Amino acid sequence: MSDDERTFVMVKPDGVQRGLIGEIVSRFEDRGLKLVGGKFMQIDDDLAHEHYGEHEDKPFFDGLVEFITSGPVFAMVWEGADATRQVRSMVGETDPAESAPGTIRGDFGLDLGRNVIHASDHEDEGANEREIDLFFDEDELLDYERIDAAWLYE
Ligand code: GDP
Ligand code: MG
Repeated sequence: MSDDERTFVMVKPDGVQRGLIGEIVSRFEDRGLKLVGGKFMQIDDDLAHEHYGEHEDKPFFDGLVEFITSGPVFAMVWEGADATRQVRSMVGETDPAESAPGTIRGDFGLDLGRNVIHASDHEDEGANEREIDLFFDEDELLDYERIDAAWLYE
């Protein structure tokens, strides 16, 4: 299995306001994933519509756009073996109330509309690459080796 799959992750405005950036970054670092891009930014209306385009017709769409543009987010790209699926399993279910303890949403949320973190959907083929392209330029993604790489992979 290739160990260089990349996936897009974002601490949402509620996670930023609640001081959870460090905790969330630590979980991915501890797992052995490699941070290859990171950006503290505020999402504008156009980017919100593009990022959440698949939900345009849903009743929660306007509220979702308002929420995701309401304050800074921390956007990241993480790299590693099976990264998209592994990150999703660490994030939990869409609804924190349905998420297992030990997952990020299961440990830090209670409400569907305030679920702390976004991660690319592993069941949506190519979502990771689309979202990385949407948020990052190629030169904002760095190639380097973690010093412990030899101990993370057989
Ligand atoms: P995700 O991939 O697990 O983030 O979930 P989805 O792609 O289905 O939905 C995107 C985001 O829309 C979720 O993370 C929630 O922030 C929000 N969302 C989804 N469903 C609902 C809902 O029924 N009500 C509200 N208020 N927000 C929702
Ligand atoms: Mg989704």
